[in-house]
Amino acid sequence: MTDVVLDGVDKVYPGGVAAVRNIRLKINDGELFVLLGPSGCGKSTILRMIAGLEEITNGAIWLNGAIANDLPPRERNVAMVFQEGALYPHRTVKGNMLFPLQVSGDDRVEANAKVQELARALGIDSMIDRLPRTLSGGQRQRAAIGRALVREPSLFLLDEPLSSLDAGLRTELRVEISALVRATGTTTVYVTHDQVEAMTMADRMAVLRDGVLEDVGTPEQIYQD
Ligand code: ADP
Ligand code: ADP
Repeated sequence: MTDVVLDGVDKVYPGGVAAVRNIRLKINDGELFVLLGPSGCGKSTILRMIAGLEEITNGAIWLNGAIANDLPPRERNVAMVFQEGALYPHRTVKGNMLFPLQVSGDDRVEANAKVQELARALGIDSMIDRLPRTLSGGQRQRAAIGRALVREPSLFLLDEPLSSLDAGLRTELRVEISALVRATGTTTVYVTHDQVEAMTMADRMAVLRDGVLEDVGTPEQIYQD
C-alpha cells in the first residue's frame, strides 16, 4: 500500500525559475490520480520530485506515511514511463521487460512467466521477440508500460505517455492503461495536458496552472467548477 502526500512543496530551479509553489496534495493508495495542465505549468517537476529525481526546495513529500525528501530514487519503489518509452534498443521486447527482474535476481522461470502474462495483458505477446525499432509507437509504449509494471512498483508514474501517438491509439491506450492499473491496484500518478484524457481516466485529478494548484477533485467535481 502506498499513498503520497505533498505538503507545501515548492520547486525553484537553479537559475531562479519558480516551477511550482505551495503544492498541497494527498494521493490515496490505489488511486489513479491525474495531474492536468498546459505545457510548462510544472507537472513533470512534481512527478520528478515524487520519484526523487528532483530535489524539493521547500516543503515535504511523504511516501506511505514516512518523510521521503532525502530518500534516493531506488528506495522509493517507483516506476516511470515517459512520452517516448526509452526502451533498450538492442534488447527485444521480452529482453526489455525481463531486465528489471534480472537486475533484482528473480527466478528465471517465474520471471519469464510474469513477462508472458503481462505481455498478453498488454496485447504485445506476439511481438515479444522483436526489437523496439520494428514496433509501432503504440506497441513501444505498451512495452515500456510492461517493463515498468513487471517488478510491481508501489508507485507508477507516467509523464505524457500517449502524447506522441495518434488520436485513435490514444483513446485505445488510455482505456487499457486505466484498466490495467486498476486491476493491479497500483497507486498511479498520470501527467497530461489533454483534458479529455484526464476526465476519462482519473479517479481524482488536480488542475495545475503556472505552478499553482487550481483545483483538486473527481472529474465530475472539476467539471462542475
Ligand atoms: P510541464 O511538465 O507542465 O510541461 P515542467 O515541470 O517541465 O512543466 O516545467 C515547469 C517550469 O520549470 C517551466 O518553466 C520549465 O521551463 C521549468 N523547468 C523545468 N525543468 C527545468 C530545469 N531542469 N531547469 C530549469 N528550469 C526548468
Ligand atoms: P515537458 O514539457 O514534457 O516536461 P520539456 O521539453 O519542458 O518537457 O523538458 C524536457 C527536459 O528539459 C526536462 O528534463 C526538463 O527538466 C528540461 N528543461 C525544461 N525546461 C528547462 C529549462 N528552462 N532549463 C533547463 N532544463 C529545462
